[in-house]
Amino acid sequence: MRVDVVTIFPAFFDVLEVSLLGKARGAGLLDVRVHDLRDYTTDRHRTVDDTPYGGGAGMVMKPEPWGLALDAIVADAGDRPTFIFPAPAGERFSQSTARELSEASHLVFGCGRYEGIDERVFAYAATLGDVRLMSLGDYVLNGGEVASMAMIEAIGRLIPGVVGNPESLVEESHEDGLLEYPSYTKPASWRGHEVPDVLLSGHHGRVAEWRHAQRVERTRERRPDLLPADPEA
Ligand code: SAM
Repeated sequence: MRVDVVTIFPAFFDVLEVSLLGKARGAGLLDVRVHDLRDYTTDRHRTVDDTPYGGGAGMVMKPEPWGLALDAIVADAGDRPTFIFPAPAGERFSQSTARELSEASHLVFGCGRYEGIDERVFAYAATLGDVRLMSLGDYVLNGGEVASMAMIEAIGRLIPGVVGNPESLVEESHEDGLLEYPSYTKPASWRGHEVPDVLLSGHHGRVAEWRHAQRVERTRERRPDLLPADPEA
């Protein structure tokens, strides 16, 4: 998969060189290219923002550098990518979105700053490919970099070959609407806390039953919104 990122803070993405995604890049599974939006400005001060039409607080990212940056990426790749613009006012990013996007061949992340990007950039991007405005959650970050990083990691680990054991992806939280069961490793007893007996029993059926019950209980306790509505309620 090819991933382009447009940002005014390229250094945020240095961490993509470490851990599993770093390995995936080394192995050619993930081709990440980070672009500095300021390289697409045409003035001496490399200006990327201006005051909002209609007044109001804060600054808005100017459309011209965005247009040039997106044009350059599309000209280089010669395809119609999916553009993802992180935005608190976007659709909610979820595990199923990550799964869907992990099948794309080319994603372009556009990281907003200030009060966001001039709205016309999204309309222009829609002439070059698909456009998704994606929110990580109902809170506001300072910029799209951390949100893009989170999405790149969630999507990237679903690309076949990135996570060594594909089995480990199947039973995770959010894969089938339930949170994951609790995990334990050695030693069986630690500082007065014991591993549940059933996990030491070696009985696969009982372990599976216990884990499923734990998933349902956890989900009911922590994230009841994930469970189907009770028709009796
Ligand atoms: N004025 C915008 C609003 O109220 O919708 C918020 C702008 S925010 C300070 C600057 C940038 O951070 C946004 O353009 C977006 O790229 C990113 N951002 C902030 N919160 C986010 C979230 N919950 N999910 C995804 N991106 C977010």
